[in-house]
Amino acid sequence: MCTNLVSKYNIPGPRYTSYPTVPYWDNTTFSLKEWTKSLRQSFRESNTSEGISLYIHLPFCESMCTFCGCHKRITKRHDIERPYIRSLLNEWQLYLNLFESKPKIKELHLGGGTPTFFSPENLEYLINGIFLHAERADDYEFSFEGHPNNTTREHLQALYNVGFRRVSFGVQDYNEKVQKAINRVQPFENVRRITEISREIGFTSIGHDIIFGLPFQTEEAVVNTILKTKELLPDRLAFYSYAHVPWQKGNGQRGFNESNLPTANQKRIQYEIGKSLLSEVGYVEIGMDHFALQTDSLYKSMQNKTLHRNFMGYTASKTQMMIGLGVSSISDSWYGFAQNVKGVEEYQHLINEGIIPVYRGHILNSEDEVIRKHILNLMCHFETDWRQSSLYFDKLPETLTQLKEMELDGLLEISEFGIKVTEKGQPFIRNICMAFDLHLQRKKPETRLFSMTV
Ligand code: SF4
Repeated sequence: MCTNLVSKYNIPGPRYTSYPTVPYWDNTTFSLKEWTKSLRQSFRESNTSEGISLYIHLPFCESMCTFCGCHKRITKRHDIERPYIRSLLNEWQLYLNLFESKPKIKELHLGGGTPTFFSPENLEYLINGIFLHAERADDYEFSFEGHPNNTTREHLQALYNVGFRRVSFGVQDYNEKVQKAINRVQPFENVRRITEISREIGFTSIGHDIIFGLPFQTEEAVVNTILKTKELLPDRLAFYSYAHVPWQKGNGQRGFNESNLPTANQKRIQYEIGKSLLSEVGYVEIGMDHFALQTDSLYKSMQNKTLHRNFMGYTASKTQMMIGLGVSSISDSWYGFAQNVKGVEEYQHLINEGIIPVYRGHILNSEDEVIRKHILNLMCHFETDWRQSSLYFDKLPETLTQLKEMELDGLLEISEFGIKVTEKGQPFIRNICMAFDLHLQRKKPETRLFSMTV
């Protein structure tokens, strides 16, 4: 990445796990009635042919990592586990009531928070409860996020027994000074131990999350982290830039000073060194921020163009519908999005009242549907074709102007029917998607909403 391009394109921008992005959802056209109608339609269209995805948010953590952007509650009280799981199962029942047949679950992901805050017995109870009235789709993929410090052999075995074969561990960086600054001290030995146990039990896809741009992080620290990663050779890696968004996350990201963060240029160097080391080891870059060995399903899905992106990040196959259970979870019916309330007590209260606990959402109009597809194509395949829709460039003069400038900068190539992102343009994929983001263009945010794009 050249320095001039970084200074030109390093601006606040969305990560496009949805389009429209959450700050641009139009709550005025959203209602529970419209939302459930869109779910029923999507279920009828897609459950038999491709199945559905389920995301379950388990929000509790025992201590606060100061880099964290997730929705969580810090507590050491474990008596909250069962009541929360009961609420999740009751919420699931509210969705089941909408459908005429049993859902076929293709992808299931436990995220958090810390899923392994919950005991193995409670996690098993949760998954068995979900499948009382659901089936597993063919080639299903179940995954969870494990914390290297508290994931036990029993957790792994319990989840393996109910069908999980993929696990990702948050590593961030192995340097002690960085770990202390982010309040997440976890020695390499913990990660090694749990990675090896996962393999021993039979998990076939093990992922590590590595972050660059963290406080006190240096190029040497990134190199050292990747060299240690090479020893364990996880199947997948998320290698992404720390999103410094303290205005969104209250005190959670205030455990260090802004002057302790690497500059944009230092981050760029960290990314480039990391990327080139990863490719030497044999990892292939997948979409944005992800790498995989050629034996992993994510790589295969990129090869056969089935790679998909939703609120869970990149997934190896597409389902039209994703239901999110638990506080703050986002669901996607393909025709609309909805997000659950964020407070645990409010969430449990609504479920006790028999109400699907969403508090905001967006129903897509036909323009949103077209733009969404293009952004999805770009994020997953680095190209898109206008012939898929009636919305040609001539209807998007602002988009075309921006794309032409990016073409001059060597980031992409425009043809009569679409665009293709060049290798040089791949690190700027968020900026390229922003050219298509009509909501963002019509109304620039008045306050800072997004992390920096580079
Ligand atoms: S990084 Fe994970 S364990 Fe740490 S506070 Fe955030 S959700 Fe909890």
